Amino acid sequence: MSDQNLSAHAPHEPVPFISLIAQHQTLAHEVTAAVGRVLAEQKFILGDEVSQLEAEIAKYCDSRSAIGCASGTDALILALMALGVGPGDEVITSPFTFFATASSICRLGAKPVFVDIDPETFNVDPEAVEAAITPRTKAIMPVHLFGLCADMERLWRIAVSHGVSIVEDACQAIGAEYRGRRAGVLGTIGCFSFFPTKNLGGAGDGGMLTTDDADLCKQLRCLRVHGDTGNYHHTEIGLNSRLDALQAAILRIKLKHLDQWTEARRRNAQTYRELFTAYSLNDEIALPVEPREYKHVYNQFTVRIPGGRRDGVQQRLRANHVGAMVYYPIPLHVQPCFEHLGHRVGEFPEAEAASREVLSLPVYPEMPAHHAELVVRQLKAAFGQTRSQSDARRAA
Ligand SMILES: *Cc1c(COP(=O)(O)O)cnc(C)c1O
Repeated sequence: MSDQNLSAHAPHEPVPFISLIAQHQTLAHEVTAAVGRVLAEQKFILGDEVSQLEAEIAKYCDSRSAIGCASGTDALILALMALGVGPGDEVITSPFTFFATASSICRLGAKPVFVDIDPETFNVDPEAVEAAITPRTKAIMPVHLFGLCADMERLWRIAVSHGVSIVEDACQAIGAEYRGRRAGVLGTIGCFSFFPTKNLGGAGDGGMLTTDDADLCKQLRCLRVHGDTGNYHHTEIGLNSRLDALQAAILRIKLKHLDQWTEARRRNAQTYRELFTAYSLNDEIALPVEPREYKHVYNQFTVRIPGGRRDGVQQRLRANHVGAMVYYPIPLHVQPCFEHLGHRVGEFPEAEAASREVLSLPVYPEMPAHHAELVVRQLKAAFGQTRSQSDARRAA
């Protein structure tokens, strides 16, 4: 795009961080028809639409079964319940993730054991995971953060050698691949979210579990309906966590387009890589990595802005109508609600550094083609105008 074209847009055309409207417009007729069908039938909880979606997700992930539930958070809770995790148990996970990863562990009375992350991938460091194993460890819960799978082979070896399970928090990673296999079949149970801004998003909350284990599948189906094994017979106390037929009907339509949307996200990521080179930003700002044998699905395109400049850059972008978000500003080990775990600042330096330096840029599939260049131009300008901590010290 020429500079002239750009100046016609910049700096005032707003660049939203995400917009779901364009995507809906392409599907509005189909979605409205599907919603009408469910309303005509008046069968809202589980039922055919949910069973069909479950079969389609199982096929998509290449898992033996898939079980719908009410949210990604509930998927995590149900997975841990099915594995028998409870008080006295430990589950190893990342401190650099969305809150629900760790809260699901606490919700069952178990203890989240945080380990530091790999600074390049933002995912748990397998060596740290191995060092954190104790006789009380019941499971490892890696998060495929931002849409990039964790180092699953090393985690799987650790899990097998210590006899513990793996619950994949794949909420940001539907369609992501590791050595040719998709997220959801890389552990014992996979957990997905259909929160509207996830890569496959519904019209509200929704979630899904995947597993190859027939016994776990049976248990999960029972646990999501109060632990009812049929005829109001309860051997366990479960949850009320079912997927709505309305959500399932909408998600079935969207699933057909998911791969195409993923490719659009990947194209946007590639465009950013080229623009970062063109604008000579590579040396200063670190781009997300996509190691060989991994397929990143870019739920977020997250860069690192070091030197204490991240907040200043974000503010300047915002002032110039460019949306950029910090996921996540506070690592979980220092959240007030986890104070009882006795962690301190400095304990997980990589997670803490990531929290200070990350910035996620717009990458949604329907993002207009010229927006990436508007983002990078504004980023270049903002970076140049923002003093680093060492500059500030020198000036003082
Ligand atoms: C979104 C998300 C969840 C929770 O999913 P909900 O459907 O919002 O409950 C859990 N973990 C991660 C990493 C997520 O991104």
